[in-house]
Amino acid sequence: MASPIGIDSKTPLQLVPGIGAQKASLLERLGLRRAIDLLFFFPRTYQDVQPWSTALELTENTRACVLGTVIDMDSRFGFDGRSSVGVLLEIEGGGYLRCVWYNQPFRREQFSIGRRVLATGVVKSSGVALQMRHPEVLLLADGEEPPPAKPIPIYPLTEGLQQRNVAQSMAAVIPLIEHVEEALPLEVRERAAQKLAFMLSATSSSGNSTLLNSESASVGLPLFDGDLAASAPPKLLAIHDALRMIHQPETMIEAHNARLRFIFQELFVLQLALAMHRHKTQYSKPAPSIPSNAMVHARILKRFPFDLTGDQTLAIEDIRRDMAREIPMNRLIQGDVGTGKTALAQYAMLSAVANHYQAAMMVPTELLARQHHRKLCEQLKDSKVMIELLVGSISGKDKRELLQRIAIGTVDIVVGTQALIGEHVEFAKLGLLVIDEQHRFGVEQRASLRKSRTVPHYLVMTATPIPRTLAMTVFGDLDVSILRQRPPGQSVVQTYVSEPGQQERWWKFVLEQVHSGRQAFVVAPRVEATSEEDAAGESAGAIQQWELLSQGPLAELRVGLVHGRMDGDEKQQKLDDFVSGKIQVLVATTVIEVGIDVPNASVMTILDADRLGLAQLHQLRGRVGRGRFPGYVCLFPRSDIGDEELERLKLFASNHDGFALAELDLKLRGPGELLGTRQTGLPTLRIADLSRDAEILQLARSIACEIIATDPLLNLPEHAKLRRQVVAKHGATLEISDVG
Ligand code: ADP
Ligand code: MG
Repeated sequence: MASPIGIDSKTPLQLVPGIGAQKASLLERLGLRRAIDLLFFFPRTYQDVQPWSTALELTENTRACVLGTVIDMDSRFGFDGRSSVGVLLEIEGGGYLRCVWYNQPFRREQFSIGRRVLATGVVKSSGVALQMRHPEVLLLADGEEPPPAKPIPIYPLTEGLQQRNVAQSMAAVIPLIEHVEEALPLEVRERAAQKLAFMLSATSSSGNSTLLNSESASVGLPLFDGDLAASAPPKLLAIHDALRMIHQPETMIEAHNARLRFIFQELFVLQLALAMHRHKTQYSKPAPSIPSNAMVHARILKRFPFDLTGDQTLAIEDIRRDMAREIPMNRLIQGDVGTGKTALAQYAMLSAVANHYQAAMMVPTELLARQHHRKLCEQLKDSKVMIELLVGSISGKDKRELLQRIAIGTVDIVVGTQALIGEHVEFAKLGLLVIDEQHRFGVEQRASLRKSRTVPHYLVMTATPIPRTLAMTVFGDLDVSILRQRPPGQSVVQTYVSEPGQQERWWKFVLEQVHSGRQAFVVAPRVEATSEEDAAGESAGAIQQWELLSQGPLAELRVGLVHGRMDGDEKQQKLDDFVSGKIQVLVATTVIEVGIDVPNASVMTILDADRLGLAQLHQLRGRVGRGRFPGYVCLFPRSDIGDEELERLKLFASNHDGFALAELDLKLRGPGELLGTRQTGLPTLRIADLSRDAEILQLARSIACEIIATDPLLNLPEHAKLRRQVVAKHGATLEISDVG
């Protein structure tokens, strides 16, 4: 429906009255071309403008809004390299307030003496004066009246574009809201609101619901007063109200409700896509039924030199049940390092073989492939099971022969790297595919496997405990089994953070350990230092560290080096030498992070530890203390490490729960860092935040699953608009096409 003057939500911005070519071209830098793009360009946060306070009314540790005039300014550089900009305001009605910003030198240019300013922030006292750290500020032009007491949206900007430009342009497109179509059926909004109300009543007593948490102010959700929230039951606003309230809210509650609607919508559309994809993989092609009857089951268990833990037993029950069905299994096993995931893979592979199907296991590195292959061969050496290794370094005639044997079915189990899913690999009867350390593979690779003619059962294992919210997003199409229990006999790895001057003592300890028969890892995050300063300082790469250590503190030991730039055979040789004890200390990059199992290794030193994420550090820590010997890890941070960074490392030292560390990593470093840069399947979220919006995600997921269960392809007319959104946003990644 076009408006009388022919302008609607699809109109290019430069044609919207009140915007003009100049502003339109600035907005285009943000990717905003049409009116509707601008309407869906959401504020990052809001300045919560309330009736302003006088100095007398300000109380420490509460938020307040202050109207004042700049009477003094200062800017400094500290010894620690931090800059600060301070602005002293004379408050209207009497009194003074200092505003201060750290590491935002551009603030200096914003202010001038005599300028009227509206500042919102938390009041602190520093010595004699009251101050606000990093307040939100609105600068008033000469003679401009202060705005009414309602929230001011703050948008992400680009160079040359100011908040007031965005606000003016937004005002010009707000009348076009009526042309925007509602994508969420009323029924969905009502169901969501009901569930939200229920979730709030269930969590309000515990007081830490992210829906209401006032701490969320720091991550961009409108600050919230618990009482206010409780008096206003949550709603899922209709699109027109939501759009108006997100851009021009009368109150913070309105802003909050508007954001809630869009956060829900974003997560809901994603969860619909995942549920559709899951439905498609389950029902488009069958998998072979691979039952493991009591006899097979007992025979496989007898192969393990230990009793399974309770969690292993439960996971094996899940796997047994899944594989017996003709619906392809899609199961993710999450278990911290050392919880015994390999046994599950072995169980599943052997039950496939017992049913005359082939099994394949794909791992991220050649080192790991060789290790798994060797262990499987040892474990099954008195059986007739044929096990082969397929990695990139096998080529020529050997490879051709191997591929042939895989194709005619004389190989039962193949362990390999990505080479396994190469174009030329054809299995005679692939019944199961195991993928170890899934977080190293992208979803695209998973998808490309599914294109093959056979549809195997599918078991994914990851040792990076993935926070629940992330698992629901990246692996939302998989069922999950979790191993929390550890096999008996594993002790906690003692972890230390070295302080300057303690290094010498630590290296002495490493010497003692090695002299008593143990072995040691030294991890340097990078292969080589990138700049000359680094090479001279402590921040050297693995190669330099290897030189320094083998000539310095560890000169009396046999020190080896392994890193990612070596070729496969060379890396393998080094690792073999380490396993056999020929090398006592292995200096390595993070290539050893995943899955390497050397039970005699008891000490690890991690250099430049602050470069690494907590989940990654936890992986590394899992490489020691695997055998009978207690493990010790020492982190050497870089000397210029900040207080917060140091805190992060100390937290790691005292915490051994991989799930908790991964949650923390997600919060501190974001999902990309946590999963590694190679993770390609991570959806980009514009307004939702996985570490903050866990409850809304859960809600979106449950409603999405209910809908897909009754309308798997979203073919019902009331779902048509939803379907269009799902296809537009996630169709390509999840192979959900518009036709059919
Ligand atoms: P993950 O792959 O989960 O990091 P692994 O499968 O490599 O862990 O197992 C770690 C170690 O624990 C291995 O040495 C393995 O043999 C041992 N292990 C696994 N399950 C048990 C169990 N139930 N009882 C005793 N030891 C076990
Ligand atoms: Mg493993």
